[in-house]
Amino acid sequence: MVLLDRNTLNQMFEALAESGFTVIGPTVRDNAIVLDRVNSINDLPVGWTDDQERGAYRLKQETAGAFFNFTNGPHSWKRFLYPPQLTLFNARRRNGDIELIPEKPTDEKFALIGVRPCDLAAIGIHDRIFLKDHHVDTDYRERRKNLFIVAVNCLNPGNTCFCTSMGTGPTAGTGYDLVLTELFDEDQHHFLAGTGSVAGTKMLEKLSAPPASPALLHHCDEMLKEAATKMGRNIRTDELADMLRESFDDPYWQEASAACLSCGNCTMVCPTCFCATVEDVTDLTGETATRVRRWDSCFNGEFSYIHGGILRQSTLSRYRQWVTHKLSSWEEQFGSSGCVGCGRCITWCPVGIDITEVAGKFWEKKYPSRKKAATKRQQPREVLIPVN
Ligand code: SF4
Ligand code: SF4
Repeated sequence: MVLLDRNTLNQMFEALAESGFTVIGPTVRDNAIVLDRVNSINDLPVGWTDDQERGAYRLKQETAGAFFNFTNGPHSWKRFLYPPQLTLFNARRRNGDIELIPEKPTDEKFALIGVRPCDLAAIGIHDRIFLKDHHVDTDYRERRKNLFIVAVNCLNPGNTCFCTSMGTGPTAGTGYDLVLTELFDEDQHHFLAGTGSVAGTKMLEKLSAPPASPALLHHCDEMLKEAATKMGRNIRTDELADMLRESFDDPYWQEASAACLSCGNCTMVCPTCFCATVEDVTDLTGETATRVRRWDSCFNGEFSYIHGGILRQSTLSRYRQWVTHKLSSWEEQFGSSGCVGCGRCITWCPVGIDITEVAGKFWEKKYPSRKKAATKRQQPREVLIPVN
């Protein structure tokens, strides 16, 4: 572990750009912390933090000038690895035939700065889905193979966070190239940096930073342990998948979904939701056409349209589908929960529906005397790093 100061951290931005990376990180825009291109530490949300609650998000300034003292905003990294809209191929008429013109995968190399442990776990989930089975998503593979990930441990979890319950944070597990912990120590602002890959080690060698003292390492460890106890929310995950599997006819779904607008916000902000639709768009003459993939949502009526009818007509059925897939059937499909505890769906639900409250209700119904949510110790997660 080494210690970086602000200048050395800035040198990392420069070194990444010199190596051909497009550097993406958190930045302030439209009163929110979003993910976009960043050129230096000055583009980070310096001195900004946030307040989050169900259906509420507010930025506010703090005096210390921290770079990473906020929790996840509305964007997740999936917008760079699995973009909201992607051209799959073009087609045009040529001498009475139809010529298909494949779309080349992007050759842009991304460096992601400030990936929180929960989002690192979400990338691991997408690796499992898009790379591990027979049907590899070639666009995802190309975007993923050159990725450089700088994770940031969380010392101040937000009100809607529950990564401890999901075993994904607040300390990064695996799957990063570098991991930072932002520290203010005796008026010094610095970043404890560790490496998780050969590329990360090479980067640290370039930055030639001094080693951190054992006392500082211990201090950092203690703070991260404390952070694990400061989650805004918790859920019990033991038995939850089974409870939800058996809940199809439970009358509580009526209450849980009563306020739901079927707007799909929760699925758009969720770092693991990956439902998509495919559309063909032609020009007015019918000479050319483009096939595009777009993010879709299980809250859209059309999403469950199948040979003549929409399967999930009611909002109740869509909400039940979303929650039971996330927290139950996802485990059968992909071997883990589909939720990493980032809290975005709680913050960005316009009517403030809270997935932890809904999951907790099933627990309360089954075990009325055991209401208190248990926390789960962090388990190392398998995160696949694709080989070039
Ligand atoms: S379901 Fe909600 S809390 Fe869980 S990963 Fe998705 S957005 Fe985050
Ligand atoms: S749960 Fe909230 S965010 Fe999700 S579709 Fe319903 S109203 Fe929209």
